[in-house]
Order: sequence, then structure tokens, then C-alpha cells
Amino acid sequence: MSTTKIVILGAGYGGLVTAIRLQKKMRRKELDVTLVNKHDYHYITTHLHMPAAGTDHHENARVTISDLIDERKIRFVKSTVRQILPDEKKVVLDEATLDYDYLVVGLGSETETFGIPGMQEYAMSIKSINSVRFIRQHIEYMFAKSKMEPKRKDYLTFVVGGAGFTGTEFVGELADRIPVLCKTYDVDPTDVRIYNVEASPSALPPGLPIDLIEYGMEVMRRKGVQYKLSTAIKACTAEGVILGNGEFIRAGTIVWSGGIRGNSLLQQAGFDVQRGRVKVDSCLRSYQFSDVFITGDCSIVTSPEGTPYPANAQIAVQQGYNAARNLLQMARGKEMRPFVYDYKGTVASLGRGDAVGLLKVKKVKGRLASFLKKVIDARYLYLIGGIPLIWKKMIRKQKSAT
Ligand code: FAD
Repeated sequence: MSTTKIVILGAGYGGLVTAIRLQKKMRRKELDVTLVNKHDYHYITTHLHMPAAGTDHHENARVTISDLIDERKIRFVKSTVRQILPDEKKVVLDEATLDYDYLVVGLGSETETFGIPGMQEYAMSIKSINSVRFIRQHIEYMFAKSKMEPKRKDYLTFVVGGAGFTGTEFVGELADRIPVLCKTYDVDPTDVRIYNVEASPSALPPGLPIDLIEYGMEVMRRKGVQYKLSTAIKACTAEGVILGNGEFIRAGTIVWSGGIRGNSLLQQAGFDVQRGRVKVDSCLRSYQFSDVFITGDCSIVTSPEGTPYPANAQIAVQQGYNAARNLLQMARGKEMRPFVYDYKGTVASLGRGDAVGLLKVKKVKGRLASFLKKVIDARYLYLIGGIPLIWKKMIRKQKSAT
């Protein structure tokens, strides 16, 4: 009998954790596992706001996949997935086509622009190592350019659309970076403007209690961030953004963090999607194709009350554990176990040394919250690479600081 073929698409939180758990738990040659990813590294998406603003080096936000995967157990293919053919049980890559018995899709998200004119063309988004390198360079270029054309104050105006998790964390870092950039480029700090525009009446990740939101917004305001709440961006142009109230903000930098949708490959493959994401059954399988497991931002998992859980790294990691366990259960002819989300809390960074969050129901803020955020990050590194990875990252961080 031939070995069951598992193909995992995407080495993000969901896909990588599925692969690592299989690597750890499967017996020799029990499954034939292939992991496919566009890059030969895994990026820690939850760190990307720092290299985007330039407060950390992008190397600190990525890990080489070969450092995590034992290629004697799992085949790694660096390639871009072009097509999923669920009826034929195949996936088409750049240079090859793979067959599978079971597929795990963890291809992450794409930017949702809600059809706002010009957003796709003129706004940048924090999505990958490549995109954050670009944002960082662009910000520095704007500072340099402002010295060449001193009348153009718009070069020093930054608009961030969306004040949820990503928007808040990026704005916090950007505000911390501004004084350094002003010094480097001899710019008067009072010439710099940072606007955080949000369509809903409140900033910061949804679900935080009001006192934490007020604390977070106060911290940001003290750093110079100007909020425009209950204000939608109506259009984006090469010169700036047009707001719902008709106001035009002339800005040299526009970063959009207002929404995500699932990877478009799923819709193209014929999966029923809601904003590109697929509603999965209790074992994370597609209702249409029971041999396809879907994890992370590509999936929609609902609470027992029927409310969709927010897409985040925490749920993607837990889904990776569940998918790996159920693949092994199946291979061993045992019953699969349903996915149960264990919400551990959420902590959003407000920049250097400050954060707000909830640990289950306990509120945390300030230095303690910032410290806890670092503990959460270290815990993830431990999970994927053990102590050696934490050690490697600490040394790397030390080097980039000097
Ligand atoms: P991802 O981690 O996005 O990985 C997808 C993988 O698929 C990537 O490796 C990508 O290269 C690969 N891929 C994509 N398309 C292809 C293709 N066609 N072919 C081959 N490979 C492909 N969540 C939290 O819980 N806490 C936080 O503090 C937090 N902070 C965040 C801060 C920022 C700036 C951002 C952007 C997000 C943050 N999130 C946070 C959300 C979290 O990062 C995502 O929910 C999580 O990354 C989703 O994991 P995933 O496995 O679905 O996909």
C-alpha cells in the first residue's frame, strides 16, 4: 500500500505548525509530507510592523525554513502555488504539479480594499518581508525628499488607514521612529503629521475594554498621532486620501491596514468563500472537499454560538496543531477530534515599551503588557524552533542593535 500523500500549502502560522507537528509526531515513513512555500523562509507576521516602520531589522522577523524542517521527514518545495484543482486532487506550482491524498491550505490573506478607488494602486500594506522593506525605504525617501523640496509638507504626512491590530501596532512604531528620522534628516518634528483613519468609532483591536482603548489612544496621541475615527477613506490618489467627510489629506505615504480577505486561489479553485475565506467543519475541512483542510486566515471558524472568530496568529497556530493531529488520527484509522479554540487573550503593542491587552479576562497595560507581548513572541519561537531558535534570534537582535 502506498504512503498517504499530504501536501501543505503555505509555511505561515497554520501551515508551518501543521508541518512541524507532523514532523514531531509521525512515525518513520508513516506519511509522505510536502510543504510548499513561496519563500525559503517563514515570516513572523506579528513582527512586521517593526521593520515596516524601521524600528527593527527585517531579519528579526524571518526564520529560514530549513532551520525548522527536517528534510529527511518532510519535503520542502520553494515555489509559488498557481492553482488548486480539488476535483483532480492536484496543485499546480510554478515548475511542477503535485498530487495529494490530503491537502492543507494555509496560504494566508490578501489585502481587502473594499473597492475603495485608488487603494490598490497608491497605498502600501504590511504583508510580507518584501512589502515592509519597501515601506521602510519609502518612509526614509520621503524624509530625504522633503529636504530637497522644503515647501512640500505632504512628504512628511503619513496616513494609516485602519486602526485595528496592524494599524495600531504600525502607527505606534512609526511614531517612535519619527524623532530618529527627524534627527537624521534635519527635519523639524513639528512638520511631521501622522493620521490614523478608522471607519468605526473606536481605535485599537476590537474587543478590548473601553478603559484600555482610552489608555492606548492617549499613549498614541502623546506620541503625536492624530485620530480620525468614524471616518471612512473614500478614495486614494497619487497625492493623498479623500475622506468620507470630503476632507482631502495630502500625504506622501499611505499605508492601508483596513482589512483582509482569504487567498484568492481558493475562490479560483471553486471553493465557496466569504471574502475569500472558506467556512470549515468542526475538523477544519472544507464542506465541499472533505480531503482539504483549511487553516489560518483562509478559514472561517465559528464559535459554538455561530460567531466567526477573528483571523489571527493564535487561532492559526492552534489550527495547525489540530490539522496535524487529525491527519495522524486518519492515517492510524482513528477518529478525528474537533477543533476547539482556546482563546488565551490578545496584546497589542503601542510602540516601544508600551502595550495593552487582555489575558483571558485580565486587563494588562504599559510595561507589563509590553513584556508579556515579548513573552508571547518568545513562546512562539520556542514552539517552532525550541531554545536554539530563541537563542539565535536573541544574538541576531543584539547584532542589529549594535
Ligand atoms: P500567514 O502567516 O500569512 O502565511 C501564509 C504563507 O503562505 C506565507 O508564508 C506566504 O509566503 C505563503 N504563500 C502565500 N501565497 C502563496 C502562494 N501562492 N504560493 C506559495 N506560498 C504562498 N495576530 C495575532 O494573533 N497577534 C498579533 O499580535 C498580530 N499582529 C499582527 C501584526 C501585523 C503587522 C499583521 C500584518 C498581522 C498580525 N496578526 C496578528 C495577524 C496574523 O499575523 C495572521 O492572522 C496570521 O499570520 C495568519 O496565519 P496564516 O497561517 O493564515 O498565514
